Amino acid sequence: MSVKNRFRSAEAWLIGLAVVGLALLPVISSAQSAAEPTAEDFQRLVDEAYNLFKDVKEGANANYIPILDTVPSELFGVAIATRDGKIFAAGEQEYRFSIQSVSKPFTAALVMTQQGPKVLREKIGVEPTGLPFNSKMALEIYPERSVNPLVNAGAIAAVSLVQAGSEDERWKLVHENLEGFAGGTLPVLEDVYTSEYETCWGNRGIANLLYNYGRLYSDPEEALRVYTRQCSVGINTRDLAVMGATLANGGVNPLTGRRVMPAEHVPELLAIMATAGFYDESGEWMYSAGLPSKTGVGGGIVSVVPGKFAIVAFSPRLNEAGNSVRAMRAISYIAGKLGVGLYGPNLGE
Ligand code: GLU
Repeated sequence: MSVKNRFRSAEAWLIGLAVVGLALLPVISSAQSAAEPTAEDFQRLVDEAYNLFKDVKEGANANYIPILDTVPSELFGVAIATRDGKIFAAGEQEYRFSIQSVSKPFTAALVMTQQGPKVLREKIGVEPTGLPFNSKMALEIYPERSVNPLVNAGAIAAVSLVQAGSEDERWKLVHENLEGFAGGTLPVLEDVYTSEYETCWGNRGIANLLYNYGRLYSDPEEALRVYTRQCSVGINTRDLAVMGATLANGGVNPLTGRRVMPAEHVPELLAIMATAGFYDESGEWMYSAGLPSKTGVGGGIVSVVPGKFAIVAFSPRLNEAGNSVRAMRAISYIAGKLGVGLYGPNLGE
């Protein structure tokens, strides 16, 4: 190559480099704007979300479990917990509400920990139902019957699948597992348990149908009692935030440093939360917030930003699908502002 040609090729190389640099500018600057949020950002956002949505009156307390209708509807708490155990909170943080269905992914995690994700897939299923959380029809139309561990049928099946030699041991394992995720002791709200167990004819029907189809793995009434007790565990907004942060931290509780599930099973669990965590509104939720989440009729919602932090909120008034109206708004607001939707920053529109 002549000196001139060599010069030309060096020149072309430099121009090429500049063009690539320019083309990458948006990527570089968006990477900068998506830089890790600071403690001030987190605190400002939970405060903003609390103030923006604290006066929303839409929805109503769940009342099919009679006692849930007596929980003060105005309660509202918002929190973020990071994978290194920092908690940023606004509003109600002490009130212990019943965990309800937010317990379901954590018991699914216990089944995965004991027996691996294949068992969960084969003996329960991982498909969203597109139907309400307590659907009996789902049981009849899907060959898996239980369908996934985040609807009532699959969650009762998950409890029955926990390897235990007695009902007491089954309960102890389920309870200790929830406490491991929360990093502290969690009481059972006995009045919630009694109220739900006395009225759980629908869930009893589900447990018996599953047993009939060979998709329940313990005595049906035992599974029903342990499941109902699991749903009656009392948590506050901060407990919920730490439970979510434990998933964000790959299964290690950031407060206690204890591993509560194998890191390699966290992605499968989050995948089920993404597709089925919001019941028949799961698609809507992924469209607007883009985060694996789980809701409960007690008014709690946990959302996980994998590898980073959890955003949670609690407020008792629910929409038709059984999801807390204020909690949904608060979480999607924060997720939108931080641009942490899994598939890119959702605009929430
Ligand atoms: N214990 C409730 C039930 O079985 C949980 C429902 C929920 O939170 O979605 O109906």
